[in-house]
Amino acid sequence: MNVQEVLQQKLGKEISQSSNQEIYGALLGIVQELVGKKEAPAKKKKIYYISAEFLIGKLLSNNMINLGIYEEVRAVLAQNGKDILDIEEIEQEPSLGNGGLGRLAACFLDSIATLGLSGDGIGLNYHLGLFRQEFENRLQKELPNPWIEEKSWLIKTDVTYPVSFRGLKLNSRMYDIEVTGYNNQTNKLHLFDVDSVDESIVGDGISFDKENIEKNLTLFLYPDDSDEQGRLLRIYQQYFMVSNGAQLILDECVKRGSNLHDLPEYAVIQINDTHPTMVIPELIRLLMERGMEMDEAIDVVSKTCAYTNHTILAEALEKWPVDYLKKVVPQLVPIIEVLDDKVRRKFEDESVAIIDRNNVVHMAHIDIHYGFSVNGVAALHTEILKANELNNFYKIYPEKFNNKTNGITFRRWLLYCNPLLVKFLDKQIGTSYKQNADDLEKLMEFRKDEVVLNRLLEIKHENKKGLCDYLKNTKGIELNPDSVFDIQIKRLHEYKRQQMNALYVIHKYLEIKAGKKPSTPITVVFCAKAAPAYVIAKDIIHLILCLQEVINNDSEVSPYLKVIMLENYNVTNAEKLIPACDISEQISLASKEASGTGNMKFMLNGAVTLGTEDGANVEIHDLVGDENIFVFGAESNEVIAHYANSDYVSRKYYESDPDIKAAVDFITCEEMLAIGQEENLNRLKNELLTKDWFMTLLDFKSYVETKENALKAYEDRKAWAEKMLVNIAKAGFFSSDRTIAEYNRDIWKLDI
Ligand SMILES: *Cc1c(COP(=O)(O)O)cnc(C)c1O
Repeated sequence: MNVQEVLQQKLGKEISQSSNQEIYGALLGIVQELVGKKEAPAKKKKIYYISAEFLIGKLLSNNMINLGIYEEVRAVLAQNGKDILDIEEIEQEPSLGNGGLGRLAACFLDSIATLGLSGDGIGLNYHLGLFRQEFENRLQKELPNPWIEEKSWLIKTDVTYPVSFRGLKLNSRMYDIEVTGYNNQTNKLHLFDVDSVDESIVGDGISFDKENIEKNLTLFLYPDDSDEQGRLLRIYQQYFMVSNGAQLILDECVKRGSNLHDLPEYAVIQINDTHPTMVIPELIRLLMERGMEMDEAIDVVSKTCAYTNHTILAEALEKWPVDYLKKVVPQLVPIIEVLDDKVRRKFEDESVAIIDRNNVVHMAHIDIHYGFSVNGVAALHTEILKANELNNFYKIYPEKFNNKTNGITFRRWLLYCNPLLVKFLDKQIGTSYKQNADDLEKLMEFRKDEVVLNRLLEIKHENKKGLCDYLKNTKGIELNPDSVFDIQIKRLHEYKRQQMNALYVIHKYLEIKAGKKPSTPITVVFCAKAAPAYVIAKDIIHLILCLQEVINNDSEVSPYLKVIMLENYNVTNAEKLIPACDISEQISLASKEASGTGNMKFMLNGAVTLGTEDGANVEIHDLVGDENIFVFGAESNEVIAHYANSDYVSRKYYESDPDIKAAVDFITCEEMLAIGQEENLNRLKNELLTKDWFMTLLDFKSYVETKENALKAYEDRKAWAEKMLVNIAKAGFFSSDRTIAEYNRDIWKLDI
């Protein structure tokens, strides 16, 4: 049967007579059947990727691409007067993640299946996600983000495990989402849940009773931890995730023939950041329950677990007071005490202890001592871990440390999101790059070919027009497709320095007011969620939204400069924005962005990076060369020295530079206060002048200068197109297929 017939049979009527909702439901069913048929055969050893987040994005079109039926389905729908883009709109994006770490986990699952490795994801089935962002009175408002519908990718299984907390025993329920690789097998994402969760306990915004564990356990990702109840809830969630994961892993390994003494031959567990760390003591506990001596259990688990570090921000290195653990998971406390005791017997250095003198457990320290591998996520990040943040551990275990520069799946971030570019690449360099991303290099041959360069410019323009149409039709927002699209989309955090970009916007506004007009109009796009309790991040959103309005209302400036902040950053929005970008803003304070993956997505889609020497930007720079990237700002060593010496004083920069002063003062000028909240704007300005933890003003001048260079370079269209070409051609290194092949070669060692 062909696609038309299968679809009609599923619908029970003509395609043209069916609603988009019905077609979505039918396609979902068809794709699920096809995906299910490709289930991976059981191999001896398996990788279990445990993560608090999996930011997987919508799955319908992605799965159809990986199954190789996307084009046919799109064509059949078109013949029947239906647009696949409208069908995609029906699907809710799963809200199972927050940012880069969760998106990485999703790309990795895709690549694990694509490379034919035996491996599953393990996480939690959050019903309401992180939150859905809306703007009200130019402020962020948080709402629940429900996504689970009657018809969804979730498959309810009858797998259930008992999980005991102090004074509470819950039975879990496992749901699966099938993950199908590109032209390859299907693996699984296992998401644990409890049947008793009750969405109706959510009150105003995203508030709820934090003590009602049976009802709240899997409602939200990263529930507010500004009070003790919130912190305890996070421990409940983490333990629930790892206890289920550990029970599943042991069951599966026994089924595959393990006698548990040989567990490392059957399983490798990749711990994605510290949230799943308790899997280590939990596995030890379970092995002892099954009769193993403690020393052997510790040894077996240490040979099974590997840890990925994602950040050097102190706020993110998790620490839990022993008292909290006693309140939630007392059964783990004696085990963690033994783990600490063994470390203390071996090493005098207090800084590598697991339980510190204040009776606080350092989760990362458990991972490093009792895992066999510690990896950073970009070359610079790993070097900083070794030389600074984790230096005391590196001295003990140099052999455990390794780098795995992040990657992205090209199925979603090229094949799906940029069909025009894909069509062009297929014609120009053949299709081998779809299996082997390095073959994008074949494009280099055409770097001086005018026809090719012109076509790249046309494609970018088409994508910009496409984005403009979409924003106009869905949100009533009008953008000029002939302007430069300068885009910064990522979580809102001071270290990522959206505030620096906003200060640039002010600077440009003042220049235009003074008569200095840009040759090509500029559109600056932001999209970012701020953590609900992160006051300054929310103030930065307020600043941007106020600027958007001030500039919009100024007819002198608005033809030349437009600022827009879109609501609710997620994968779906990223897929629409990235192919339309000219300048990719990657301006984190050097040393603070572990890798970034947004930078890779933009590069692959022909945007040119404007960035600091941070994270994977350094590797992008190495690959494309000085001519094809715009780099600025203090380098990581300089920044690390400023922190070490506490010698950065932002006010010095404000007082000595009239441009900086003018931009900062504008935050609380009359026009801004006329539409904005005085409290928020004052607080933000004050923060910049008295703290500025992430050194915005340090780099502001070189940022402005370099951005002007980029805008000037944009004017030479042919030279710019060549930069685009080189960026696309060199992006192959950032395929997550390469990253996963490296994880497997160095850490997992599974049979292909
Ligand atoms: C890629 C991606 C991220 C990570 O972006 P960075 O710029 O690396 O911080 C976060 N959220 C979403 C939705 C993404 O697609």
